[in-house]
Amino acid sequence: MTYVVTESCIKCKYTDCVDVCPVDAFREGENFLAIDPEECIDCTLCVAECPVDAIFAEEDVPKDQYAFIRLNEELSRQWKCISATKAPLPEADLWSKVKNKLDKLIR
Ligand code: SF4
Ligand code: SF4
Repeated sequence: MTYVVTESCIKCKYTDCVDVCPVDAFREGENFLAIDPEECIDCTLCVAECPVDAIFAEEDVPKDQYAFIRLNEELSRQWKCISATKAPLPEADLWSKVKNKLDKLIR
């Protein structure tokens, strides 16, 4: 299994989650983070850290977010590791409430 970052993270990228990951499984894109399924050890620690509830166990990913299982896998192969928290994107609070924003994801 693995944990999966879903749509709420797009354009928010609070990065609270990365500090707690014991295996540095997070990968950073311009406006989204992905979890590398090859690295994640299912410790669950990141779930409670995400202020927008973007992280789910693979088996609990909501139906309308299934595309993110594949996306985390694909994007984590292309992006670099992030292991320390940094400032969120400038309009993170605004975008955290927006749904259906997959088209805003920068790959
Ligand atoms: S804490 Fe949540 S919103 Fe922030 S980067 Fe991690 S998954 Fe994305
Ligand atoms: S579940 Fe644990 S190992 Fe997997 S990404 Fe989250 S903090 Fe890292």
